[in-house]
Amino acid sequence: MNFNEYPIDSLMYITNRPEIVFTHGKGSWLYDNTGKRYLDFIQGWAVNSLGHCNDGVIEALTQQARTLINPSPAFYNEPMAKLAGLLTQHSCFDKVFFTNSGAEANEGAIKLARKYGKKFKNGAYEIITFDHSFHGRTIATMSASGKPGWDTIYAPQVPGFPKADLNDIASVEKLITDKTVAVMLEPIQGEGGVLPASREFMQQLRELTKKHNLLLIVDEVQSGCGRAGTLFAYELSDIEPDVMTLAKGIGSGVPLGALLCKKHVEVFEAGDQGGTYNGNPLMTAAGYSVISQLTAPGFLDGVKARGEYLRTKLLELSAERGFEGERGEGLLRALLLGKDIGNQIVEKARLMQPDGLLLNAARPNLLRFMPALNVTTEEIDQMMAMLRSILDTL
Ligand SMILES: *Cc1c(COP(=O)(O)O)cnc(C)c1O
Repeated sequence: MNFNEYPIDSLMYITNRPEIVFTHGKGSWLYDNTGKRYLDFIQGWAVNSLGHCNDGVIEALTQQARTLINPSPAFYNEPMAKLAGLLTQHSCFDKVFFTNSGAEANEGAIKLARKYGKKFKNGAYEIITFDHSFHGRTIATMSASGKPGWDTIYAPQVPGFPKADLNDIASVEKLITDKTVAVMLEPIQGEGGVLPASREFMQQLRELTKKHNLLLIVDEVQSGCGRAGTLFAYELSDIEPDVMTLAKGIGSGVPLGALLCKKHVEVFEAGDQGGTYNGNPLMTAAGYSVISQLTAPGFLDGVKARGEYLRTKLLELSAERGFEGERGEGLLRALLLGKDIGNQIVEKARLMQPDGLLLNAARPNLLRFMPALNVTTEEIDQMMAMLRSILDTL
């Protein structure tokens, strides 16, 4: 269909979108309304962990859609229980609450921490978060985020989120008062530009939070579910957080998130937390397929290997073009361009002929790569060749 034939004008304006309509996808490839195909290194912003329309996810969704879609969150269902069991088996956490998005999982983590403070810490409610962090788009998670400008768009903010600097333990220590109940961070800041918290910093944070009886909350909405080459990014630092949130990769494209905690943090009482769609069997069945595939023997080793391959290729390109190197973990990486040409490259990549390339500039001076975790080395080579040909035209 022609772009002008779609009733685009009926959609509420929220951002500038290119004049194409995506119609179908498979693996690392997306197709638009004109039949043009795109090599996708965005994957719904690190969402489609197993690529577009993964066979296992399709099978889980279609089977479950025929069996039971939603009995109500007031009752148990089988996929919900099975996925919770799989997540506690493969993590350091004991308890799981399912959500429909990352922001909702983080809202849940904030509620859990505030309830914990009420119960065990004289009503302490402040959660120390970090500059340039991203925790979602609800009012509370925007307030928790350290994204520049977000403190004013929908002011007033929700109070209680003092901001520290990533990888600077003194800046965290300085903010601790008798009102503090938790520290929350992304083990790798995704939207902030693929900035990993160092292993040393994560270990210092764990020590500091233990000393002050504070909860350590990791927002693994982007870094979790195999993205960093381990099932969860906290594993890279050999620490055990108290609370973790997931979304994005856990559903490989469907709306699913999770709030996980250790037994001693499970403080919700009847009626404290819930939601109409939370833990519905349709989405949790998809999540069960995803986590089963990610934890199959050898899968994460493959992610690590492909992450290392991408790293090597990006470093070669950086040396060749005089860029400033690369950073990241697993298949969440950034190429540091050293100048603000990121958006220009993104635009040219999408418009390339005959095939387009989908990239993201999380900041104007870098490109972020978040391909499907089952991307092939051939596809990485293809992406690098396309990127080189764009750079030649600048
Ligand atoms: C994307 C993201 C969120 C928000 O998730 P939504 O599903 O869009 O609500 C929260 N935290 C991090 C680290 C994210 O990358």
